[in-house]
Amino acid sequence: MRERRRPVPDARSPRLARIASAERIELVTETAGSLPPVYGERWIHREDRTYRSFEPGRSKLAAALVHDWKGPVPASGEDWLYLGAATGTTASHAADLIAPSGRVYAVERSPRSFARLLALAQRWPGLLPILGDARVPREYAPFVPEVRGVYADIAQPDQVAIVRANAELFLAGPGASVVVALKTASMGRGREASEHLADAERALRSWVDLAPSVRLDPFHRGHYLVGGLARAELFGGRGTLRVRPLRGPPRAR
Ligand code: SAM
Repeated sequence: MRERRRPVPDARSPRLARIASAERIELVTETAGSLPPVYGERWIHREDRTYRSFEPGRSKLAAALVHDWKGPVPASGEDWLYLGAATGTTASHAADLIAPSGRVYAVERSPRSFARLLALAQRWPGLLPILGDARVPREYAPFVPEVRGVYADIAQPDQVAIVRANAELFLAGPGASVVVALKTASMGRGREASEHLADAERALRSWVDLAPSVRLDPFHRGHYLVGGLARAELFGGRGTLRVRPLRGPPRAR
């Protein structure tokens, strides 16, 4: 009988793993939610754990991890703010990664996508959908506590400015994480993708210590993952990362 291949833990996040076969290395997250699959992804049972294939063709975060992303990745116990959650493809994997005690505050402005995200959250502990516009973070501020990371994938030309406004309001302090999926096709015509990347990096560098950016081709053409750790400049020079009392709803679900 052929040996069932074991998931090998990935050093970048405790609930992230890889399953190697002759054909490929498959990225997986240990699931926090229950069946059915969110977007048709494979579910894999090994010993007493259940994993979900984290598909690089469907998720920019997965594509970046396949391309050796060295920047921040959501980790067990952390709270993250996710801008542009859509129907929850990547947000569900982020919720896997922060389980069992972290939370993903998932902002989406399209009511149609939000309805599906809301249904998904019924079977995904730690995933908290918010119907809102990432350009107006004060509107959802009553529902979001300080967070350890902001992840943004909203395909807007001024996305970096939107991320900064959210980071100022919600990031816990210097050393907290910022990750942005850049869709250069949405950032203006007549310029190379690499020029849009350079602009975004320049804008972020004034308040983020950037990890090397990763190009996401061939999985997502003309996209990059950019990000790193917030610097004190974002917080007007205030001290090291500290955990303040939550302003959000009680944690027990
Ligand atoms: N992150 C998703 C994933 O990997 O599963 C895909 C996100 S899709 C590329 C971009 C999403 O951002 C869309 O669902 C869109 O409705 C949402 N969006 C765009 N502008 C937004 C804004 N200002 N506030 C909140 N959501 C926004």
